[in-house]
Amino acid sequence: MYYTSTRDKSVKISSAQAITKGISPDGGLFVPVEIPKLTLDDLKRISGLDYIGRAKEILKLYLTDFTEEELDGCVRGAYRAGKFSSDKTAPLHKLSDGVSVLELWRGPTCAFKDMALQILPYLLTVSAKKTLKDKKIVILVATSGDTGKAALEGFKDVDNTEILVFYPVDGVSPMQKLQMITQEGGNVNVCAIRGNFDDAQNGVKSIFTNKLIEEKFKENNLVFSSANSINWGRLVPQIVYYVSAYCDMALQGSIKMGEKINVVVPTGNFGNILAAYYAKEMGVPINKLICASNSNNVLTDFLKTGTYDRNRKFYCTLSPSMDILISSNLERLVYILSGYDDEKTRDYMLSLAESGKYTVDDGLFAKIRQSFEAGFCNDEETKRTIKRVFENNGYLLDTHTAVAADVYDSYVKSSGDLTPTVIASTANPYKFSASVLSAIEDNIKSEDEFSMVEELFEKSKEPVPEQLAGLKGKKPRFTAVADKENMAQVVFDMLGI
Ligand SMILES: *Cc1c(COP(=O)(O)O)cnc(C)c1O
Repeated sequence: MYYTSTRDKSVKISSAQAITKGISPDGGLFVPVEIPKLTLDDLKRISGLDYIGRAKEILKLYLTDFTEEELDGCVRGAYRAGKFSSDKTAPLHKLSDGVSVLELWRGPTCAFKDMALQILPYLLTVSAKKTLKDKKIVILVATSGDTGKAALEGFKDVDNTEILVFYPVDGVSPMQKLQMITQEGGNVNVCAIRGNFDDAQNGVKSIFTNKLIEEKFKENNLVFSSANSINWGRLVPQIVYYVSAYCDMALQGSIKMGEKINVVVPTGNFGNILAAYYAKEMGVPINKLICASNSNNVLTDFLKTGTYDRNRKFYCTLSPSMDILISSNLERLVYILSGYDDEKTRDYMLSLAESGKYTVDDGLFAKIRQSFEAGFCNDEETKRTIKRVFENNGYLLDTHTAVAADVYDSYVKSSGDLTPTVIASTANPYKFSASVLSAIEDNIKSEDEFSMVEELFEKSKEPVPEQLAGLKGKKPRFTAVADKENMAQVVFDMLGI
């Protein structure tokens, strides 16, 4: 299997190269040149395996330059017993007849990013051994919350890597901040930036592209890499859980093997739902992919009209991990559905960079419509859905998953489509305790984060994840705050160069 760039078809590299490079120098994203297929017999066979076995079966179709032994080490390292709070790793919770929630937040940081960021360090170190010859990898992350913690947890104490996470000093939730500044591990570092998320992100980008810093790194046998969701190494592990969820839908009797399902995904950067699209193209019987957005509904408009237009108001919502106006991974879908047309993709993306918008042609739009449905909801509807599902189904949704549940509800009402459905659940509700509590309780007594957690527990009786409860009273390790102009110096100090 080879990988090419969405903006230059002449690129031809291995998966190890795609994973170590992260992004193509032409600005495009790496994609496999074809999508491997699974037959129903394959799915039946995969159904008989545990999550580690399933992951291996899927990953080996894409990472053909990894040996059996290397792959085995990666999946076992990432998903071994005890790392996730379910022995199924990504279990289905049956919400009602025909509708199941896929719990993707059973990992160490309680958000779905763990599904990929637990395995990325393994994939990256194996890839680096093949392509970089003993250089030490320095991972830089700018985060608005969930990615930073999941990356820290994934890379902690991984040989030959150092990780440094920058977060906006006033831009993350109290729980997210505590999760990061108490991080354990000998190769980790966290630094707050006086500025917002964009400042942190721009700072990281300018370090990546600074020639002088690159020279200094070379002298010290170091190389940068990225852990954000444009890296193929983050996308490919996400395909696994859609295949796995289909198998489990059949095993639990919600469908017969071969019957179609719908999949609903709360979407931000379009990574998670793109993985579901890959699963569908591989041969998993999926009917519709339903893309759910919050008030930042740029994707809803695109999937309904064919015009992507980021020139609009930006909203800070109760589902902050979906507050995004440029969904990077959409580029991969545009490339695939345009018939692997690098020129067309480049033109659209150029237009997006220059004017903030582009309109796809009719042929491409028709193909998008075949697979995708879309909808959005606002904060009030999000809260109402948390309350409704809690009262009717006795199940507590986080704010992001609630967006998906609300959009799904509207879709069923307008389409009458009763195809059995999987709703991707992307975070544990206790990660957003204040919002979730306010959805189900009118008179909140608590004032600080941990009393909210306790009050939410009293009310819902849903177990509090140990990783979050255990943060109470834990001593912060990383209290540094830097000016955004000094980020490079923070990197040098951490590395002692
Ligand atoms: C990152 C994130 C999302 C969005 O996922 P994308 O792959 O960016 O579409 C949704 N929910 C939560 C909780 C997240 O952390």
